[in-house]
Amino acid sequence: MLKDKDRIFTNLYGWSSPYLKYAKKRGDWIKTKNILKKGHEKIIDEMKKSGLRGRGGAGFPTGLKWSFAPKEVGSRPHYLVINGDESEPGTCKDRDILRFEPHKLIEGCLIASYAIQAHVCYIYIRGEYFVDGQKLQAAIDEAYEKKLIGKNAAGTGWDLDIYIHYGAGAYICGEETALLESIEGNKGQPRLKPPFPALVGLYGCPTIINNVETIAVVPTILRRGGKWFASLGREKNTGTKIFCISGNVNNPCNVEEEMNIPLKELIEVHAGGVIGGWDNLQAVIPGGSSMPLIPKDKCETLTMDFDSLVAEKSGLGTAGVVVINKDQDIIKCMARIARFYKHESCGQCTPCREGSGWMWRMLERMAKGEASREEVDMLMDVTKQIEGHTICAFGEGSSWPVQGLLRHFKKEIEERNNFNPLINTGQKNPYLVDQHLLEKENA
Ligand code: SF4
Repeated sequence: MLKDKDRIFTNLYGWSSPYLKYAKKRGDWIKTKNILKKGHEKIIDEMKKSGLRGRGGAGFPTGLKWSFAPKEVGSRPHYLVINGDESEPGTCKDRDILRFEPHKLIEGCLIASYAIQAHVCYIYIRGEYFVDGQKLQAAIDEAYEKKLIGKNAAGTGWDLDIYIHYGAGAYICGEETALLESIEGNKGQPRLKPPFPALVGLYGCPTIINNVETIAVVPTILRRGGKWFASLGREKNTGTKIFCISGNVNNPCNVEEEMNIPLKELIEVHAGGVIGGWDNLQAVIPGGSSMPLIPKDKCETLTMDFDSLVAEKSGLGTAGVVVINKDQDIIKCMARIARFYKHESCGQCTPCREGSGWMWRMLERMAKGEASREEVDMLMDVTKQIEGHTICAFGEGSSWPVQGLLRHFKKEIEERNNFNPLINTGQKNPYLVDQHLLEKENA
């Protein structure tokens, strides 16, 4: 379990004031000038040493991402953009940083902006987080007032302006290029890549986009050293992480823990256990609704980090852990998630626009026991037609949860839909062929 001395977010539950006087007591804005004195390159090297991987879902190494910004500022200015859209169902960690630890984020913005040579930073917040955004704005205002940002920010000689931009609640605006479109005042639809935002981003200028949590841990890493951060967790999965635990648990909560913590410990110790006891557990979605679910038998020994979850054909994503117990209808749950993705598709790519609706409709039929045997295989086929054939990762995000259901709960779907394996439909269905061979053999 994470020791208190290694905790970064000491006001995660809002027990103290988020504002400057108390933030300083928690260690924020201490010797920020000395950090910037190290210079752009050394800051980036230290971030690489820390092994910090982006906390927004993709897990891309932060130091490496920063190093993609051009070394020299040419005719086009550089921008830092913070992604606080946080629309992934099951995820609510950035909101707590915005409202309870805003100065960690603001100080992180200054350091990251300096590292990538940006003088302007935009923080994109989902529209529903308006009250939390107002708290962040109040913290930004006091940072301006105390000259921690603005001209000669914190006495470093670096100028930085920070602006908040509110979204209007579209899930797809959390995709980094859709987010840029949205800031520019356009429809929030993802851009084709390449070019990548590090070279052609906001207003066509070099732009680095990072998640709220990623930037909020930067000051502590640079104060305590990349080596300290790398000593937590395990290789390539270093540091601490805020996990959001929700669903059928007795005590839904956000908790900062060390990477690689056992899932069972997260649920039993921090979230008060599964409602109805551990044996009543059915499955867990480990990283927000777009990650494939994991059935109970695998949850016993599962550890929570990027690579462990990939090995289980799932992902850490945003670390939004959704616990589903046996009181829930798992097919209905997945149909509801599919409906969400159908609603949020931006509509640019045919496989995503059409396929997300197909998946939802088929799952609805399966939940009611009205599907045909062929539809089960067809459903998997539809997910494969979407995955890897779209402009952005939404295609994967919408099809992976369905694949997870088919991988682990196919038997439940078949039972509910009363498939008769002895009826030869003439379809290429290995399951049916096997049954017929078996029948012949037995005769
Ligand atoms: Fe839009 Fe879906 Fe294509 Fe992404 S994958 S660009 S959300 S249609």
